[in-house]
Amino acid sequence: MSFTTARDARKLIRPLQGELKRLLQQLVQTNSVAVPPGGGETPAQQVLQSFFRANGVHTELYTTEFIEKSGNPLVRKTRRYRARKNLSARLRGRGRGRSLLLNGHMDTVPAGKVPWSRSPWSGVDRGGRIHGLGSFDMKGGVVANAAVICALKKSGIKTGGDILFESVVDEEWGGGGGTIAARLRGGGADACIIPEGTQLEIYRATRGGFVVDLSAEAGNSAAYFSKSPLMSPAVPIGRLLGWVDACAKRRSKIKSGGAYASFPDPVPVQVLAVQANLLDPETPLSVPSQATVRVYFQFLPEEDVKAVIQGIKDSLKQFEASDAFFRKYPIQWTPLIGAPLLGHELPADHPWTRCMFESASAVLGRKPVISAAPYPCDAGLMHRDFGIPTLLFGPCGAGAHNPDEYVEFDSVLRTAEVLLAAALEWTNG
Ligand SMILES: [Zn+2]
Repeated sequence: MSFTTARDARKLIRPLQGELKRLLQQLVQTNSVAVPPGGGETPAQQVLQSFFRANGVHTELYTTEFIEKSGNPLVRKTRRYRARKNLSARLRGRGRGRSLLLNGHMDTVPAGKVPWSRSPWSGVDRGGRIHGLGSFDMKGGVVANAAVICALKKSGIKTGGDILFESVVDEEWGGGGGTIAARLRGGGADACIIPEGTQLEIYRATRGGFVVDLSAEAGNSAAYFSKSPLMSPAVPIGRLLGWVDACAKRRSKIKSGGAYASFPDPVPVQVLAVQANLLDPETPLSVPSQATVRVYFQFLPEEDVKAVIQGIKDSLKQFEASDAFFRKYPIQWTPLIGAPLLGHELPADHPWTRCMFESASAVLGRKPVISAAPYPCDAGLMHRDFGIPTLLFGPCGAGAHNPDEYVEFDSVLRTAEVLLAAALEWTNG
């Protein structure tokens, strides 16, 4: 990695600053919330398409619905893709050299019921932080990817291998549908970058994940105000939380031999929600007949996820058999998104990891941290199922999947510069 490449990257991105910030603000201001089975990403994809058009970049905006009938086993059968469009672009290289894929997702989770300090769609700039839903996860990253394409197009620089851009739908909730559609339609590449928020660290691994609802149903709330004893699953569900806690303690002893070695709790088990009756003033005296615990398990890239889940199920059966209530009212096991997501890991000495490390060092003027993602994402799919070596490198920010999300705009520009330097280096190698 030459110093000149880093300087060139900075020189090419700098003149775009103003329009990149406006693009990011517009994207945040355009609702692209996805809630399974559907999602409303297309208006935001159109905003992005107009930006490319204004910069002379040809793009394709195409519906992803065809994957529902593709017969591809990776497609989640419960999802719907009608009117959900991916946006893609390809800068042709000279035909010699490695290709690079810049992938990002346009969908966001909903704003949630916890109030935000200002509108989730404000896109407002406060001291260099762009605020709003999806700013950090991951419209900032999508803008960095778009910046690489526009900078190359404007400069007229021809890379060796092709550079592919894609902004996909259905990444949140572990859908993967947009990335699957992009692969089935547009083929592969020699390496991939996904600029999810990484605080300008290189993540060479991602975790797997699985969310399951554990419920118990008992008794009859209509029997309230009668003399017969009422069964309530609320207290037994408390005992079930004890089982989850024991499970979390067991999992916390697992040691990672790879990218997660430095994580104090490499495979967390989290209780995401507990529900019996709601604290609803309209039902003042009512004993719940159903209670549920939502648990989120994560897995190391090297774990046999099927076997781990079987082990968890076996342990749950044992717990059930040891508890008189659950012997009578068995625990229902309901996965939230279907099959688990799998993690991935790219070696620290892989040529793509080395290329990103050198590019980031040259642009940032310091050695970047190489670490691993504390979350699952499309990288697992990209790397494992489509065989494309994948890294994450993205901007600084906070609040993903929570109120008051923001991204630091300067770090979006730094991300674009690093990705551009890496693209020049990789595709000419
Ligand atoms: Zn994301």
